[in-house]
Amino acid sequence: MKVIKLNKIICIIILVIILVIFIYALIKPNNTKTKSADKLSVVCTSFVGYDFVKAITKDSNNIEITYLLDSGVDAHNFEPTASQIIAIQQSDLFVYNGGEMENWTEQVIPTMDLSNTKLIKLMDTVELYKEEHIAGVEEEEEHEELAWDEHVWTSPKNAIKMLESLELGLEEIDNKEKDIFRQNTNNYKKQIEKLDEDIWDIVENAKRKRLVFGDRMPIRYFLEEFGLKASGAFNGCSTETEPSTKTLAYLINLIKEENIPVVLYIENGNSKVANIISKETGAKAMQIQTLHSISNYDYKNGETYVTLMNRNLEVLKNALQ
Ligand SMILES: [Zn+2]
Repeated sequence: MKVIKLNKIICIIILVIILVIFIYALIKPNNTKTKSADKLSVVCTSFVGYDFVKAITKDSNNIEITYLLDSGVDAHNFEPTASQIIAIQQSDLFVYNGGEMENWTEQVIPTMDLSNTKLIKLMDTVELYKEEHIAGVEEEEEHEELAWDEHVWTSPKNAIKMLESLELGLEEIDNKEKDIFRQNTNNYKKQIEKLDEDIWDIVENAKRKRLVFGDRMPIRYFLEEFGLKASGAFNGCSTETEPSTKTLAYLINLIKEENIPVVLYIENGNSKVANIISKETGAKAMQIQTLHSISNYDYKNGETYVTLMNRNLEVLKNALQ
């Protein structure tokens, strides 16, 4: 009699536990964005990777894209949350840029089980340049060994290579949709080629080949491709915000001597130095898009690599005249 009663109690306890687990599973908050069972998940770090994957997979119902920097945070200051790390681990394709601005990927990737995840490092899809010290910029305190320049997307030719590598990667995880992917890639490639032609038109008809930045200038690949030179307040992606009086004087002098009409600052950057130079010289301060860390506003507005780079056409026309 006693044994039977005890069994009954154990049975009830087990039932209650099962019920609790079941209810918890039903009402579990879904803030750790785990992937839907029936969709393939692609996680992208940078805006350009995200934008290209979005363009290639347009009209696909099979791909779910997560863009990690959707808050508009600067790529150099980004750190993934625990739920974002889980999303990367559960993804079918993880797209990242690599380089100094994404140092965290080098730390996080070796610690994860990515046996079911394909990785595409966009820096690996193009030819790289070493970072460079450009005349007029502040000398760095210590001369450490120069790293590979990571801002590869600023050249439209590189952008096309990146797009094509992503298309192949997407085919690998979702072969059934390869026809859609190829068609979309072709369409987007044409838009980037048009952009490239438009920039060439401006550069070839330009009076000068030098841009002046009152800001950092993460745009090396763009300059190399179009045969342009630049002088700026800070190197590639320096974290400094105050140029020395020597650098400031150099830039002001350069603008005055060569009658340079525009002084540039980058998106999400600081226009303070450009404004000081503008006041001193009469050069117009203008914003140039490097697509480094696009604003939350532009992201929400559905801007793309092409629409943002197109904003630069007018800027370049002014700056190079
Ligand atoms: Zn950078």
